[in-house]
Amino acid sequence: MTESIPLDLPIRPAFWNVPLWGEVGVYIVGILAVILCAVGVVKNVRRWRAGRAASAARDPKRVERLMREAVAQEKVRETVPGKIHAVLVLGFFLLFLGTATATLDWDVGHYVFGSQFLKGDLYLFYKLVLDTAGVAVLVALALGAWRRWCTPSNLPRDRRFVWVYASLAFIVASGFVVEALRLAVQRPAWADFSPVGSVLADIFIGWGLSNASLESTHVLLWTVHGLAALAFVAAIPLTYYAHIYRTPVSIALPRGEAGGVDEKIEAIEEQEHFGWSTAGDLPRSARIQADACTECGRCEAVCPAMRAGTPLAPRAFVMKLRELAAASPETALSERISAEELFACTTCGACARVCPADIEIPRLIVQMRRHLALECGEFPEGAAAALENTASVGNPWGLDPYERLDWAEGLDVPVAEEGASYDVLYWVGCAASYDRRARRIARSMVKILKRAGVSFAVMAEERCHGEFARRLGEEYLYQTAAQENIENFAKYRFKRILAACPHCFHTLKNEYPQFEGGKFEVVDHASFIRELIDAGRLPDMSDREARGGLTVYHDPCYLARLNGVASAPRTVLSESGQKLVEPREFGALSFCCGAGGGQMWCEGRSAKKPVNVIRLEALRATGATTIAAACPHCITMLESAKSTMKDADELRIEDIAEIVARSLPDEE
Ligand code: SF4
Ligand code: SF4
Repeated sequence: MTESIPLDLPIRPAFWNVPLWGEVGVYIVGILAVILCAVGVVKNVRRWRAGRAASAARDPKRVERLMREAVAQEKVRETVPGKIHAVLVLGFFLLFLGTATATLDWDVGHYVFGSQFLKGDLYLFYKLVLDTAGVAVLVALALGAWRRWCTPSNLPRDRRFVWVYASLAFIVASGFVVEALRLAVQRPAWADFSPVGSVLADIFIGWGLSNASLESTHVLLWTVHGLAALAFVAAIPLTYYAHIYRTPVSIALPRGEAGGVDEKIEAIEEQEHFGWSTAGDLPRSARIQADACTECGRCEAVCPAMRAGTPLAPRAFVMKLRELAAASPETALSERISAEELFACTTCGACARVCPADIEIPRLIVQMRRHLALECGEFPEGAAAALENTASVGNPWGLDPYERLDWAEGLDVPVAEEGASYDVLYWVGCAASYDRRARRIARSMVKILKRAGVSFAVMAEERCHGEFARRLGEEYLYQTAAQENIENFAKYRFKRILAACPHCFHTLKNEYPQFEGGKFEVVDHASFIRELIDAGRLPDMSDREARGGLTVYHDPCYLARLNGVASAPRTVLSESGQKLVEPREFGALSFCCGAGGGQMWCEGRSAKKPVNVIRLEALRATGATTIAAACPHCITMLESAKSTMKDADELRIEDIAEIVARSLPDEE
């Protein structure tokens, strides 16, 4: 039984003017398209499953991340082109939802219950929403195409993308024309609820086309539109559109608590093969991530290695990885990816931060470095000596371990004793222990700690924590160093470890917990000093004039980006009387100083313009006369860049601890 429909009731006209072959054909071709799509997806998943399973890391935030990044497109919307893409996705989703609703309206409503539900006001609302969504998709496609082909963007322009834009535009535009041809014949009183179709219908009527020619054109175009839409569905896994499902899968991959944590090689002494050297070594997670790349180029826009002109281009790296993942298992990764590319990465994490598919490029790079380091003994020039020094005497400079505490001369710094207990174990780090310039940071920290009356001590057995070794792929040295430090920590009683170097802070806080007994409460010096200020444990410094004008704060990657510490150092600087100005790239989107990933120890890199010089130029462009940082390595890199500039003598480069220490009023 079907309902009788009053003539003045708006209702969705299913299969209007479509002959029976069309109605039957759309179901047959539709089912075929869905089957082809499903087969393609299954084949894709099989390719992923050819890699070993990812470690069974628990990640309770996966669903939340999926909702934020894949559904709400939070990361995508961070840029203007991303906002346009989000409009495209929303419009496309509404059109898909509209088609699904129409199918339910006819196949379930009409055939099963004998009554369509898309009628009356609901139908008019439905029409208005779908017309608006179609317009949004076309506008977004036009803007996207303009950006890709008419502006100097870094987006690929090959034929694939012509098809991507043309096919989507054709499906939506032909849908409008099909609708208009129907409206031109039917001329319903509610045609204005399909504004685009209605305008086009008026044009067709204006051309004086007969109903017969409108109807025959309608059938023809309805068929072409339907075939194009279903071909689109079938082609999803084989084309660029595959990112529709691949990117969300990548986003949902389990991640650690913090970003920038490298996977631990368990039972490293028993292993015979380290890292990835062939296509067969690529695990599932790497295959998924390589497949998920949308080629948006955001990673390349923020990559310091790329901006410096090194051979590393993160998007190209991921594309090569995608090809390798599809190659035979014995294919050497070195056939497509060179050691020079791999060792150019500063592991700054900027690419991963902006990537809409959450591809962890530095983590992938470190896995490949592991093979070079542990199986081939291949390191960049300079790095090998730093690693050997760390292995033999516990610091990359190769200086006498008995001189480690020389920085504290005359300061009466307490050295941790077994049985005693301290609020804070001050982890000085190699740079502030040995580097003449960086020692001023350690001395400043001691002045602050003493002034605030903090119960603290340093550890005589401190040695390099091995973070730079881990990033260079020398996981064995890292694990040896980590275990030794953890054993030494266990001798002393303290509430927290205080680290004034973001690399020390990151690895002690986020990576040492991978070892038994390695979980400690660790605080960075910016947050710690802020705590002291907030608790009133330091005297008021705010009335101190900023020396020499403005101060710009350079966010260290391992502090701001990987650990979200960006506001504390700014508060500390403001409380110390500094007038702050921001550079173009700051906070979580800061630009690297060029030291991370072991680059600090690499010599003779093939950069056109060194990363530290690029960063210093950007910081100076703010007009600041003082550059503040919260990392001894950043200070070293920026000082080194300054030494290459002729007109930079007046520029001050200081750690926040130094600024606070010199801003403290004299004790009465
Ligand atoms: S981690 Fe930094 S240097 Fe390495 S590829 Fe990403 S953006 Fe480039
Ligand atoms: S790796 Fe990420 S940021 Fe880079 S091109 Fe691919 S999707 Fe875009």
